[in-house]
Amino acid sequence: MEPVRRVWGFDQLRPLQEEAIRAGIDRRDSLVVLPTGGGKSLCYQVPPLIAERTDIVLSPLISLMKDQVDGLRTCGYPAVALHSGLTPREQSEAVSQIREGKCRLVFVAPERILSPGFLEIIEKLEVRAFAIDEAHCISHWGHDFRPEYRRLAELKQLFPGASMHAYTATATKRVRQDIVEQLQLTDPTILVGTFDRPNLTYRVVPRVDVHHQVADVVRRHENEAVIVYCLSRKDTERMADSLRGAGFDAQAYHAGMESDERRRIQDAFADETLNIITATVAFGMGIDRSNVRCVIHATMPKSVEHYQQETGRAGRDGLEAECVLFYSGGDVMRWKSLLAHSAEDSPDSEAILAAQTQLLGQMQRYGSALVCRHRMLSEHFDQAYPKSNCQGCDVCLNEMEGVEDATVTAQKILSCVARVEQRFGVGHVVDVLLGTNTERIRDLGHERLSTYGLLKDVDRKTLINWTHQLVDSGVLARTEGDRPILQLNETSWEVLHGERTVMLTTPKKGKLAKTRAAVESWEGVNRDLFEHLRDLRRELAQQGAVPAYVIFNDATLRDMARVRPTTSDEFLSVHGVVQSKLTQFGPRFLAAIREF
Ligand code: ADP
Repeated sequence: MEPVRRVWGFDQLRPLQEEAIRAGIDRRDSLVVLPTGGGKSLCYQVPPLIAERTDIVLSPLISLMKDQVDGLRTCGYPAVALHSGLTPREQSEAVSQIREGKCRLVFVAPERILSPGFLEIIEKLEVRAFAIDEAHCISHWGHDFRPEYRRLAELKQLFPGASMHAYTATATKRVRQDIVEQLQLTDPTILVGTFDRPNLTYRVVPRVDVHHQVADVVRRHENEAVIVYCLSRKDTERMADSLRGAGFDAQAYHAGMESDERRRIQDAFADETLNIITATVAFGMGIDRSNVRCVIHATMPKSVEHYQQETGRAGRDGLEAECVLFYSGGDVMRWKSLLAHSAEDSPDSEAILAAQTQLLGQMQRYGSALVCRHRMLSEHFDQAYPKSNCQGCDVCLNEMEGVEDATVTAQKILSCVARVEQRFGVGHVVDVLLGTNTERIRDLGHERLSTYGLLKDVDRKTLINWTHQLVDSGVLARTEGDRPILQLNETSWEVLHGERTVMLTTPKKGKLAKTRAAVESWEGVNRDLFEHLRDLRRELAQQGAVPAYVIFNDATLRDMARVRPTTSDEFLSVHGVVQSKLTQFGPRFLAAIREF
């Protein structure tokens, strides 16, 4: 514990960190499954420091390695990363540092570790332990399979005496088994953490007018970091445009952009000169800004694993944060067709598609069921959720309400499906109900149907959403394929015959109540001082070209704005302040507090 306090400034270890560190020190193979933000890195950072040895960390992305090494060096921890982004000179400096044996951690990409040059270095150093980060990449049952991870199995043969420590945030049993088998772990310690994130408030909102809806959420987070996930590159750009139109400084981020531009945006986000990013899933791995206060999904992701991982980027500092999913059953169709196309070329296409469809179905249930969100997420990862009311989701906070006359509305929609002879999709059925005057409707003579214009007072997007809600709740059926058609099933007839009632939901109007986590974490904090300290942190981050969270995280700044230290001793008592940071940053922050 002493080195953890001295180097990192943490008062205590998080759940399972001690056991994981113990496995690292004892060099017993291990598999550690902790949710995003659970503190996996510490588990492989501590053992080589205590044992005074050099361990190797395999990490899939340069940005991930770079950020971690920057962070470690600010704490005075000797670490280097070897990757293709280094100049030849940096490369040779890094190699000589490693050869001296003073580095505690060497970060390297899986494709590089098996190169003859690097193997020779490892042999000379007599490396005794390997940590494999994002270990689920080795399994094609995971959601981010990387073929280059497969070769890591060779490590156990090349270094039979070394221990292997796998880390991941993906918890399904199948992936776990795959990791153990592929890496040939010997009698590993398996540690699986709690997946619930009590500081996150989850909301699922029926998607009606997504650009306006997203802007409304962003407005709740003035000056705070927000990530808006969109499905396609185009969607990210449209979303950023619309947010800028609404007066927010937002930037799009996706894999189709030049790498310089991507780097620029990532850096701006890390040093807090940019707060709002609209992104595809390409944005995330390697983003370690710990004070993301809100993660919005404009479209549903394709699995609960993805959702957990992406929302996991919110509130990594342990402070309150919000996750909003704008859900429409229409996303399920969009995904099905995308998945079918992408599976076409793979040899195992049927099995892969079946697995992905199952994952998609679980995500659809999350979006459509009115069950405590914390409970659903925990249970997805095979963990029981103990509370009956989480106080941290739209369902438990009672933020949804039923649409008035839902059953009558449903009957109107269902009769329209019957009138068009169960041969059309959502768009056309909605057009008929709205009484739209289109060529198609005139050609088909559908303006003469008794349901034409029957719901003309409802707004189009709302009506589409209600129709999807009926499909989700099984009151209406929809065929598979690229052009899905609405059809009636037995339940539909029960509704039409008045034998069954229907519920449609909509968010309640008015301001949302503050959650308990949000109230407690601000207790005693002078908000203006907090913002003042954030400005200073931003300035220092830009000067030192390090991410802002590397200096101090928000939890530390809030505590500073609560304690308002005036001496070095008082400064050291602030949550997360250590000697090395006191030396580096203490005078500037103390001066800022005094001046304030
Ligand atoms: P993961 O890799 O599991 O997603 P990280 O290792 O990046 O999580 O840790 C998430 C955050 O929690 C980091 O900001 C880290 O500094 C912090 N952290 C880790 N362990 C502790 C601890 N014992 N006490 C306080 N903060 C911690």
